[in-house]
Amino acid sequence: MSALRGTAPPTPHNARTLAALNANPSCDRRSLIDAAGIDKAALAAHLGLPQPLRKSKLALDYGLAFEHKVTAQAGAPLVPLLRQALGLTLSEVAYEDLNSVGSDEDKSPLKRRYSRTRSRILSAAHRRPDLHRTLLDHPVLRLTVAGHQVYLEPDIVAFQNEGAFYIVEIKSFPVIHGQPDPAKVAAALTQAAAYVLAMRELLADDGLPPERVSETVILINPRNFTQHPTATTYNARQQIKTLSRHLKRLRRLPELLDKLPPGTTFDLAPGPDKNPTRPRGELTAALATVQASYTTSCRHHCDLAFHCRNEARHQGRFETLGTAVRDDLAGIDTITTALALTDGRLHPARDQQDITQALQQAQRIYEDLQTDTA
Ligand code: SF4
Repeated sequence: MSALRGTAPPTPHNARTLAALNANPSCDRRSLIDAAGIDKAALAAHLGLPQPLRKSKLALDYGLAFEHKVTAQAGAPLVPLLRQALGLTLSEVAYEDLNSVGSDEDKSPLKRRYSRTRSRILSAAHRRPDLHRTLLDHPVLRLTVAGHQVYLEPDIVAFQNEGAFYIVEIKSFPVIHGQPDPAKVAAALTQAAAYVLAMRELLADDGLPPERVSETVILINPRNFTQHPTATTYNARQQIKTLSRHLKRLRRLPELLDKLPPGTTFDLAPGPDKNPTRPRGELTAALATVQASYTTSCRHHCDLAFHCRNEARHQGRFETLGTAVRDDLAGIDTITTALALTDGRLHPARDQQDITQALQQAQRIYEDLQTDTA
């Protein structure tokens, strides 16, 4: 794996890369590059690609301010929210910010912060559950990904009540008249699934039942257009199952490595001034040795989105037109094939006859409309 990365230090998985696994599980290219700890942003920058869609600084500051508001005064604003969300009668909880045990600006290594988190979570788990309610802010969690231990630094709270742990995620997207953006909820639950699995791993390693980490996840969001928080519970069972499945699938990485031509590397070969010296054509050729599975959602979660989109366009693939078109034209690989079937240059196979008729009908309607508007 390190030969693929070259001399660059490894970039570990994080909650965002794990969420991307769920978003595009069939992409071998991303699986391999992430598993090798290769910095995709550095590859994209060297290829001169624009960055994918990211939050603006204003949005990040807004999110931070909202999080501080919710966790202020030792998490006091969270207590009525959790009471409402989980239907509890609790009046107070023991709050601990695991980030500030050392100092306010704790920059100690993740491993040490994980040890601290682990000891606090296990001590909360071993206390008499009927007597203790505990809010643990900023835990550092650890998850085994493809045989490696990956540290996750979530902006979350783990809440223990009557023996069950809940993941509480503070998110800055609003719930407007009770309706959050479904795509943002899905992304938040996928990230939360990684934290649930990491917490379960932690409990299981100590001989505790992993099911003590609930599949119920609580999202705290601003209500309507205010900064007033509201809490909603979601069942993340599906996201947890899906992520577990994809994590197991990562164990097939040796198969992907076996398929690579000898000597393949994504090394940027930095020179004495640390700037990459690798010829771009060579890097593009190296990327082409691993199969990609581009979808339009890639631009939301992968630095290589513009590279893979250009490649898919060059190959005339439907994926560049969106998942609805790709699904409608299932059974036809490329735009060139679809056009050839439509104008009769290509004879449809038995399983392409229905879709060919539909394409030809669409073509007739299009030509009629063109005639009418001429
Ligand atoms: S942008 Fe490319 S490498 Fe990234 S997930 Fe999409 S297809 Fe895979």
